[in-house]
Amino acid sequence: MPKFITLEEALKHFFGYDTFRIGQKQIIEETLQNRDLLIIMPTGGGKSLCFQLPALLKPGLTVVVSPLIALMQDQVDSLQDNGISATFLNSSLNWEETRSRSLDILNGKIKLLYVSPERLLTDKFGEFLDKLAGENRLAFFAIDEAHCVSEWGHDFRPEYRQLKQLKVRYPTTPILALTATATKRVQQDIVNQLNLHSPRVHINSFNRPNLYYQIITKEKRSYNQLLQYIRAQQGSGIVYCVSRKQVEDISFRLQNDGIKAVPYHAGMADKDRSKNQTDFLRDNVRIIVATVAFGMGINKPDVRFVFHYELPRSLEGYYQESGRAGRDGEPAKCVLFFSYGDVKKIEYLIDQKSEPKEQRISHQQLRQVIDYAEGNDCRRTIVLRYFGEKFTGNCGQCDNCANPKPIEDLTIEAQKFLSCVIRAQEKFGMNHIIDILRGSKNKRVEQYGHHLLSTYNIGKEVSVDDWKVLVRSLLHQGLIDETNDGYRVLKLNKKSWEILRNQRQVLVPVNPKNAVKFAGDYNPKASEIELLLERLKRLRKHIADANSVPPYVIFSDSSLRLMAQIQPQSLADFAKISGVGSYKLEHYGEPFVSEIRTFCQEQSLPSALPASTHMKTLQFYQQGLSLMGIAEARNYAVSTIVDHIAELIELKQPIDLNDFVTPERQTAIIEAIAGHGDCGLKILKEALESDYSYDEIKFVRAWWRRENTNA
Ligand code: ADP
Ligand code: ZN
Repeated sequence: MPKFITLEEALKHFFGYDTFRIGQKQIIEETLQNRDLLIIMPTGGGKSLCFQLPALLKPGLTVVVSPLIALMQDQVDSLQDNGISATFLNSSLNWEETRSRSLDILNGKIKLLYVSPERLLTDKFGEFLDKLAGENRLAFFAIDEAHCVSEWGHDFRPEYRQLKQLKVRYPTTPILALTATATKRVQQDIVNQLNLHSPRVHINSFNRPNLYYQIITKEKRSYNQLLQYIRAQQGSGIVYCVSRKQVEDISFRLQNDGIKAVPYHAGMADKDRSKNQTDFLRDNVRIIVATVAFGMGINKPDVRFVFHYELPRSLEGYYQESGRAGRDGEPAKCVLFFSYGDVKKIEYLIDQKSEPKEQRISHQQLRQVIDYAEGNDCRRTIVLRYFGEKFTGNCGQCDNCANPKPIEDLTIEAQKFLSCVIRAQEKFGMNHIIDILRGSKNKRVEQYGHHLLSTYNIGKEVSVDDWKVLVRSLLHQGLIDETNDGYRVLKLNKKSWEILRNQRQVLVPVNPKNAVKFAGDYNPKASEIELLLERLKRLRKHIADANSVPPYVIFSDSSLRLMAQIQPQSLADFAKISGVGSYKLEHYGEPFVSEIRTFCQEQSLPSALPASTHMKTLQFYQQGLSLMGIAEARNYAVSTIVDHIAELIELKQPIDLNDFVTPERQTAIIEAIAGHGDCGLKILKEALESDYSYDEIKFVRAWWRRENTNA
């Protein structure tokens, strides 16, 4: 092993990175000093490196306890792909494999060993460890997902409990406990349960600056909405649903609409589930539709979006699930599709619980999710406040900061509403009151004689939905109360009376329409980078498939992006890219440098090259010009521009298909392509019953091709 003068040198050599992330260096230094440590970092913070690098620098074997087999395989693959001798032992191996791996360990050929907690505690393995410890060859234990020892955590595993024995049996071997859990109680529990000896505690901020948080109000045809959003995204994504049935249903419909999506839930056969997972990891499919059962064992760093199609049960759950996006630090989106119908569904489920205490806690947790979704403040501030962190707001990376909702003064409407509640003697719920205000001929209104009230028909000009927005906001702001004992009856409180007496103003954020796309500024250099990035991704996928590993094991998205930006044309320059360590340089340097060289040569050819004329069209598109407008500006036939746009779509350039074809028509065309295959336009046009233009078909076919080629 080479000698390193600084930790940074070792970092570059083994992992190819130039700098440590926050906290990593100090943790590594303390590990090298043989201390016990408790490390709390959000997902994607870079926990693994905190034990992997010291494991390589210390003599002897480091034992990593990890709860999930899938996770072990993944980490070991990644380490081996950095030329690091790592292996795992778990129940998936046969006797022969286990024996040969154990021999390698005894012969000192292995630096990092991943084991499941069950394995660690068997007598046989105990003897094995005793032998290593006796010869002073046990470096330290790293306990990954350490919150699994705690009953207070969200993922308690009884077998973790027995890890208590480690400190008893190997009192001088240091322990590193790592987790992304947020609550103090669990943190304390980890220290106690693992018998950590005056541990250093490292807690990183839970803020994930690269994640964009957004709420979409679900409309009636919410599947179409989801589809539209998915079509506007690129890269891999997770769509979370609550029920298995919903998972099956959504993935089936997405497949029908030409999206490469697969389902994942606990009710599926192991074989199918693991196939779908592998296809997702290896980018054979783009989207996994899953219940929350999916994710714990998944370490895919390049998940670009996590959509919650249904409501999460708690904010902590939401944070963990949405946090599976963007572990690699590149931009990623967390979108929650919110509807009051879903709230009702979950409330119903909660009411089925037998324990009143459990019910109360669940209602409280749901309320926090609703507060988050309805909230008018910076979403980051709301989440971080929940974890006890102060955040100054104005993050610029959430929908509320990016497009603040307009606030309206609805004091007069609120007064009308509240007086109607009083006139109906505080015995009714929201819908009935709205019926009265809007002069409904509803039987129930007449039955109670409410058509005779002075507030009858004084609010017809406000739509039912707008009334609801007001009432929810009143509830949300605590300006009116609602009983919750079976019937939901509205009651006035102190603040309601202040409103009626004109002592309090009612300010309500009103929803603008959700915007699907952001218009970006055109930057020719940026487009060129995107083009090269696409080619590098294809190359990466090719190499990954040949080695049967997920693409991110070869290089991360961030490394590829740097390559596309810096365009190194020699091995020496390539070695400087973050993520290119000595092993990767040797194994992948050649093909990547050669791809970059070819690309640069093509780009420097005279501008007659197709790429640049397409880029001009893209530029005009991004300025908001129509097809006709672009054709005029460029002095080309519209049909030429149509061809450009179609090719740009196929090349994954930022063109929103929804600009040219409505979602319903997209669906019809996709069905035709699904039925006939990727064939000529004429055949498709004939296959479609009503009138579809060649242009529309061309655009959708381009999109289809993009979705159905692997890269
Ligand atoms: P966690 O276990 O905390 O969720 P990981 O250990 O999986 O996070 O790290 C997340 C990603 O960050 C991985 O792709 C990893 O390679 C990368 N990473 C870790 N440390 C660094 C670093 N110092 N510089 C650049 N990338 C890093
Ligand atoms: Zn914000």
